[in-house]
Formats: sequence, C-alpha cells, structure tokens
Amino acid sequence: MSEVTCNTIKDILPLYVDGVVSDDTRNMVAKHLEHCEECKKKYEAMKSEVVIPVEGSIAPLKHFKNTWKKKKIVLVCSTILATVAILFCAFFIFNHFAYQDKIAVNGAIYTQKGENIASLPANSTELGYLRSITHNSTSDPSIDFTATNLDEKYAGCPIYQLEGGQTIYLEDYSGFYIPFELTEYIAQQEN
Ligand SMILES: [Zn+2]
Repeated sequence: MSEVTCNTIKDILPLYVDGVVSDDTRNMVAKHLEHCEECKKKYEAMKSEVVIPVEGSIAPLKHFKNTWKKKKIVLVCSTILATVAILFCAFFIFNHFAYQDKIAVNGAIYTQKGENIASLPANSTELGYLRSITHNSTSDPSIDFTATNLDEKYAGCPIYQLEGGQTIYLEDYSGFYIPFELTEYIAQQEN
C-alpha cells in the first residue's frame, strides 16, 4: 500500500478529530501522525479548536437559559394576575354599575345595595314572598314594576324587613340574604 500523503491526512483530519472515521482510517491517520510532525501540529491545533469554543459557549448559554426561564415564569405569573384582575374588575362593574335589581314592596321601590349576608339581622320580620323583581340597566330608568312575570331566580323567595329600617332582605335559594335599600315610594294609584 502506497504511503499516504499529508494532503490526504489534512482532508481526513476534521473527521478524525470528530471521531467519525472507520477503524482502518483511524489507524492510518494515527500511524501517519506518529512520524509526521507537521500533520501532528495541525491535528493538535484542530483538537484544541474544537474543544475551546464549546466549553466557552456553554456557560453563557446556560445563563441565557436560566434567565429566560425566570423571565418566562414572571411573564406567565403576571399574565395570570392581569387576567384575574381584569375579570374581577369586569365582574365588579357588571354587578354594581351595569345592572341593578329592584323590587317593589308595599308601595315602595327597593334597590339592591351591599353584599349578600349569610344570616338575617336580629329584629327582622317576614314581609311575604317576592312577586316580581326587575333586573334593569342603571342607565335606563324605565322600569316596569307592574310586570307580572316573576324572575325565575328569585320567584317565591321570602322577603324580610329590618324593624324600623329602610332595608329589606331577599332570601335566595342558596340561603343568602340579598340586601335592598329603600330608594323611592311609588305614587299611590287612586281608583
Ligand atoms: Zn503529514
């Protein structure tokens, strides 16, 4: 077998350094490197060239990965928080400003006001049962209190009044009491 030239070795060296050559080629290159200083120098240089940049580039890469991971967690958390805040605000606005429940009891109009309570205040007496309830936009004051259609959600629920007070409570089907405050009197109809 003829002697391998340095040019041939130069062509093979990158593959040899990467370790992707056959056993025969590896033996051939190794044998050449044993007695050829020039090729050996190239080989050593190539070996160090491959190793150094890889080691040098891993640290910043890891740092970048960690930083990105932290940023991602912060991003996800703030997105969730923002969504919850927006939903909460929307719910609050819808409940307290966009719509208001009103009921007419004994010639007066009561408007829902305040948070539901779990138990009835002392000195409360039962007035009767809800016959009608309106659920209207606050921006549209045209409310028909004579409507005979009962609100399915509260139909037949008992109404209580705080003695001497201007607040009445509607007991809903989940056992909570919804406070309504006196807002106006209905003009007595004279027939
Ligand atoms: Zn050589």
